Amino acid sequence: MTQIYNFSAGPSALPKAVLEQAKDELLDWRGSGMSVMEMSHRGKQFSSIAAELDADLRKLMNVPQNYQVLFLQGGASAQFSFIPQNLLGDKTKACYIKTGAWSEKAIKDAKSYCDAIVSASSESSNFTTIPDISNWEMDSEAAYLHYTSNETIHGVEFNATPDSTSLPLVCDMSSNILSRPVNVNEFGLIYAGSQKNMGAAGVTLVIVREDLLGKCSKLVPPVFNYAEQAKNQSMLNTPTTYSWYLMGLVLKWVKSEGGVVEMEKRNIEKAAKLYQAIDNSTLYRNPVDLKFRSRMNVPFILADETLDKAFLTAAESAGLNELKGHRSVGGMRASIYNAMPESGIDALISFMQEFERTH
Ligand SMILES: *Cc1c(COP(=O)(O)O)cnc(C)c1O
Repeated sequence: MTQIYNFSAGPSALPKAVLEQAKDELLDWRGSGMSVMEMSHRGKQFSSIAAELDADLRKLMNVPQNYQVLFLQGGASAQFSFIPQNLLGDKTKACYIKTGAWSEKAIKDAKSYCDAIVSASSESSNFTTIPDISNWEMDSEAAYLHYTSNETIHGVEFNATPDSTSLPLVCDMSSNILSRPVNVNEFGLIYAGSQKNMGAAGVTLVIVREDLLGKCSKLVPPVFNYAEQAKNQSMLNTPTTYSWYLMGLVLKWVKSEGGVVEMEKRNIEKAAKLYQAIDNSTLYRNPVDLKFRSRMNVPFILADETLDKAFLTAAESAGLNELKGHRSVGGMRASIYNAMPESGIDALISFMQEFERTH
């Protein structure tokens, strides 16, 4: 088998051990004679997979009892619309922090349902920083405050949970969930797609405080009504069973490796190494404010962009794949989620240094 390091932003690399286990269990899940794909979602085997998924997620993130954990479909993108529709109730406004492409999309979609107030924006810096919290303009009439903890495209990450607000905090954690500890108690709602740090595409995790439920617009399909899904263990319709199973394997892998505390430790080391190599070079540059550089997505540009193509071709020949930056920002991007081993960072750095030397 060809061995490569996959730096894709998402869907992204999975831990090898998880893929091996999925392969071993593919045709016959633990003596059941069935593949997980073939199981009834209401049968006893799959019920045990679902129960463990819920328990492991709660344990890993230390989710308090008064929060519901939902496993939905439609990706984080669907939540851009379903969050306002579930949480607004009688209110007509919600506050948003604009820090990059994903929060921008969340704002755009929310505008169909409410007055989406941009309380702060880093657009004038080309999304290379996080606006200072002392300048956020919050509206006390708003139903919630939304932010994106890691901007996957711009490579900008909040270095702490913002705590200045009396509004329920809603956070898109799609690209840094499980990469560091968070205190769920500080949030009204956390959501994340599965395909960056939790598995294959197909599951959207929503963790929501119970007192925020019960205000959903009647126009929302029941499968996207949090209270309805909570009552039905996220099985109002057939869930994406195989994706739930894979997510369960990834959660068990994170647990066995030492949990989110260990993940954070490794992620700090991996990111520091890569940024240091970028900063020490003359060919590569990362424009993000040092305090808010992402540990998960590391964009960098070459001093001479006519070398971009040669860089990508040579990288791929060296087994370093999916390094092309997002089409909206250009350049390169190395996504280094939990599943990226330190050896992948080392290989990338060696390659970058050799490319710089020869160009
Ligand atoms: C990838 C991503 C999304 C979109 O996820 P989909 O599953 O494609 O809807 C939203 N927010 C962030 C921060 C992301 O990284």
